[in-house]
Amino acid sequence: MADCRSCGATPLHSVLDLGDQPLANRLRTEEQLAEDEPRFPLHLTLCLACGLAQLTHSVPPQELFTDYPYFSSVIPSLVGHARSIALRLVAERGLGPDSLVMELASNDGYLLQHYRDAGVPVLGVDPAANIAAAAEARGIPTRCAFFGRDVARELVAEGHRPDVLHANNVLAHVPDLNGFVAGIATLIGEHGRLVAESPYVKDLLDQVEFDTIYHEHLCYFSLTALDRLMERHGLVIEDVERLAIHGGSVRLFVAAASVAERGPRVLELLEEERGWGARDREPYERFAQRVRELGHELVGLLDDLRAGGSTLAAYGAAAKGSTLLNTFGIGRERLSYIADASPHKQGRYAPGTGLPIVPPERLLEDRPGYVLLLAWNFADEIVAQQRAYREAGGRFILPVPAPRVV
Ligand code: ZN
Repeated sequence: MADCRSCGATPLHSVLDLGDQPLANRLRTEEQLAEDEPRFPLHLTLCLACGLAQLTHSVPPQELFTDYPYFSSVIPSLVGHARSIALRLVAERGLGPDSLVMELASNDGYLLQHYRDAGVPVLGVDPAANIAAAAEARGIPTRCAFFGRDVARELVAEGHRPDVLHANNVLAHVPDLNGFVAGIATLIGEHGRLVAESPYVKDLLDQVEFDTIYHEHLCYFSLTALDRLMERHGLVIEDVERLAIHGGSVRLFVAAASVAERGPRVLELLEEERGWGARDREPYERFAQRVRELGHELVGLLDDLRAGGSTLAAYGAAAKGSTLLNTFGIGRERLSYIADASPHKQGRYAPGTGLPIVPPERLLEDRPGYVLLLAWNFADEIVAQQRAYREAGGRFILPVPAPRVV
């Protein structure tokens, strides 16, 4: 088995093997349905040395990110979340026309636009050509590149020294984790601050969010694992906040170790993780058992509803939906289609299952009895948007932490 992506230790402890699965964001066209779909191992492991939960297998990034169908700006709650952190940092750090804010994996500029609107110069970095182009079209300067040591040196050589460097939901995605963090250390120097958000492994374990495990998501961070990773590159986590977004995340404030130290909230959360065992097998093995139970319950519920004469659909052609459906073998024999609000996804077909992706209006036209809510991290938003469907008698099924009808 592979070495730890962070500390290099071996062997990794097997936690949950989800088998060979298709790429969760590789939506197919009608013509592609007939073609063979590439599948790759999806196997969650734990490094007992540094506490990093991780996949064993890296899909080449060129396979994943060249035409990425995920545009952050179509999700209102993400834009609101981005706006509030931007306004807060502009105030707290006194950012203005002479400052620079950068973001790694800047997507379509959903975050940087708020700094630009506040008069702060911005620069995005994103590897997906179609998304970088979309950001440029919206007036957000964007470097199309895979960030790492070399790109960081180039940016510094060109005079880009960010006061604030954002990295939201990207640390978990990079195959060369140490190269990426080394690049961050180079870019922020002693002056800048990294503000990074990442899904938090404790929430994944507690809420049985196993469907957030997919090929692009290589690492599942505890603060323990992040602390060691940063330390290795001369960085220190000054502060940490827990956030509800994406099923539970942490937001880190990181600086050069020469100018900062671990703050009280960091020390407290590290202590809490020692308590539940962030580097121990047991909490991960309990999680794997709960995943197996969830599968039996969910498939049983869907089959009972169908046996009672109900038609079923799903909502949210998100990556996590792909893992859930492919892990439990839920496909066209149980569901009619997946409704999704993103025009980029409509008309395509979901990975593995081949379920067609349709506009949400179809729910009101067809009135399936139950809709499996795959994008449960946006449950409140989606249920509110689909009020008319619910008022007409439709119901949603939330799959995690245990299936329930709402
Ligand atoms: Zn490790």
